[in-house]
Formats: sequence, structure tokens, C-alpha cells
Amino acid sequence: MKAHIVTLPGDGVGPEVTAAAVAALKTVAARYEHVFTFDEQLIGGAAIDATGESLPAASLAACQSADAVLLGAVGGPKWSDPNASVRPEQGLLALRAALGVYANLRPLQVHPALANLSPLKNEKLKNVDVLFVRELTGGAYFGAKTRSADAATDECKYTVAEVERVVRRAFELARGRRRHLTSVDKANVLETSRLWRSTVQRIAADYPDVKVEHQLVDSMAMLLLTQPSRYDVVVTENLFGDILTDEAAALAGSLGLLPSASMGDGKAGLYEPIHGSAPDIAGQGVANPVGAILSAALLLRHSLGLEAEAIAVEAAVDRVLRHGPHSRDIGGTAGTEAVRDAVLAAIEDHA
Ligand code: ATP
Ligand code: MG
Repeated sequence: MKAHIVTLPGDGVGPEVTAAAVAALKTVAARYEHVFTFDEQLIGGAAIDATGESLPAASLAACQSADAVLLGAVGGPKWSDPNASVRPEQGLLALRAALGVYANLRPLQVHPALANLSPLKNEKLKNVDVLFVRELTGGAYFGAKTRSADAATDECKYTVAEVERVVRRAFELARGRRRHLTSVDKANVLETSRLWRSTVQRIAADYPDVKVEHQLVDSMAMLLLTQPSRYDVVVTENLFGDILTDEAAALAGSLGLLPSASMGDGKAGLYEPIHGSAPDIAGQGVANPVGAILSAALLLRHSLGLEAEAIAVEAAVDRVLRHGPHSRDIGGTAGTEAVRDAVLAAIEDHA
């Protein structure tokens, strides 16, 4: 197949890990006879330095006509002055809004070879394989805000349509996995959560093959640590998802391992590792490229519909995590390019 992919390397380790992800996609294209074209564009601090804007119009236009967008990371100390009129993170928020990506997908697996890095005891880590689906464009982050000298408010609002579209996406994803959906809310006290829960219950009738479970967010925060292997797909609203996905990321052992996808209606999506620009290690060639490479696997799966190719990339990463080489964040000494090359070789070997 033919696909056009825009890359936004961004700042810090962003360019280093994005280059590894692009190399993985090129290896897949050669191995499976696809034609992928790449267009590199500016975002974040790199864009501010070059153009004065964090998301130049040319970058946005390129993203809007791409089949998928692969992002590195934005931000860093050079652009962190709180009084600055343009900040790198604004570019990413503007891009998410312009692309209408309302469903943020974050898979979490705890790799058996890295279980010693996780804060959990080994036996509880067996088979942790959770896909979080976080609503990304509604709720308290986007509601009306007020502030006076002695009070402040953040309106938390959801429409049925906003809940329905992300919940349907989660049900569809559960169908492609173990057919178990956990919906997280706070329906004992919040009206938006009662709307959320009744919407999930109504939509569940269309997915009789998926088992649905409701959890209150406070219980879920605990269950993620005590019984993480119980969960398959977990869907929740914006604020709860922000907190729970960071909690869950700690279980994997390193921020450098985890990918994410942000999707709207249709197949185009924005793919990025969950880590930031890691200024403390930028430019040293030591960043772990696995989170970015697994983001490329999500791109193959969710935007291009290339499941076998996505599995080949994931299997290649699995082999490297099992046998090395390992980067510094997971206890090894290998640099970004050595890890990348091992993954590329494993993609080529994949049966
Ligand atoms: P942001 O504000 O952009 O979200 P952050 O404050 O969450 O960033 P990161 O930039 O993700 O932080 O870095 C947090 C820590 O994790 C740093 O010590 C960094 O070096 C480390 N880290 C992040 N990504 C990687 C990676 N790919 N490989 C190795 N270490 C990483
Ligand atoms: Mg962060």
C-alpha cells in the first residue's frame, strides 16, 4: 500500500527517537513491499527558533493531509520562560485540537525481561496487557474557568456525543482484543460521571460480545497496582485518564518504553512516545527509542490497518527487550542507534 507520513521530530531527544521510528517504518516498507513517503516538519521549540511560531501553518497543513503523523517530543529549558509569549507545548495542543483527536490510546505491557525494573512484585506482573483509552478533548481541562481573589472554578462538561464517540472506539478496540471493557468514572458523586456511565450502558447493548465492568476512579487507582493483569481495555474521561495513565506508566519500568496514539474520526492519527524531550540526555545518543518505535507499530495498526506489520515491529522489540541490547534507562549500556539496529534486524528476521 501507499501511505504518506508526516514526521515532527521536535525537541530534545525527539529527533533521535523519531529517526529510529522512521527507520523501523522504512524497514517494514522494504520487507512488506509498501510505499511510505515521509515529510519532516517543524513543531515546538525547533519551530519557534526557525519561524517564531510553535506550530507553523506549513506544519499544520502537512499534518492535515497526511495519513498519519509521527511526533518526537516538544519543549525544553531553552523555551521554558513562563513569560514567553510563545511556548513549545502550545504547538502540540493546537495540533491535537486541529486534528480533532479525541481518543488517546496508551497500551501498557510489563515486559517479563524487565519485571525487575517495575515497582510491583513479579508474580503480579504476569500478563499485564492493558490498553487505556483516555478522552482527550473534553472535561475539566476545556470547560469554562473562573478565578477571583478567594475562589476558582473549572467547569467539567461532557455531551453525550463526546462520550459516545470515545466509548464506541473503546468497544471496537476491545473487540479486537480480549473483549473486556472497564469504564472508569466517579458516578457516586459526579453528574458528568453519571452521564458517562449511562452512555456506556446504552452503547453496551450494541456490543453484547464485550464484557463491561464499571469502576470508580479511586478504586481503579488501587486496582491498577494490586491486580493490573485483570484489565484489557480501560476507557475513561480526560482528567481521570491523565492521572491513571501516568500511574500505569510507572509499572512498565521506564518512560522510554511506552507508545501512544491519538485518534479522531477516521483513520488519521498522531503517534508519539509518552516521554517528554528528556533534556538531561538530549544529544548524547543514549535515549531509548523503543517508545517511539512502538508508536510506529501503533501507526501501522490504527492508521494504515497493517496488523501483521505492527505485530512484526512489536515482536522485534520483544526480542530486543528479551536478549538486548538494552539502553541505559533499562539497565544496559547500548546507545539509541545500537538498539535501533537490533530492532531493524529483528524486523527483517521476523517470520
Ligand atoms: P515533559 O514535561 O516534556 O512531559 P517530563 O518532565 O515528563 O517531560 P521527560 O522529558 O519525559 O520528562 O523525562 C523524564 C525522565 O525520563 C528524564 O530523566 C529522562 O532522561 C528520562 N527519559 C525520558 N524519555 C527517555 C528515553 N526515551 N530514554 C531514556 N530516558 C528517558
Ligand atoms: Mg511529563
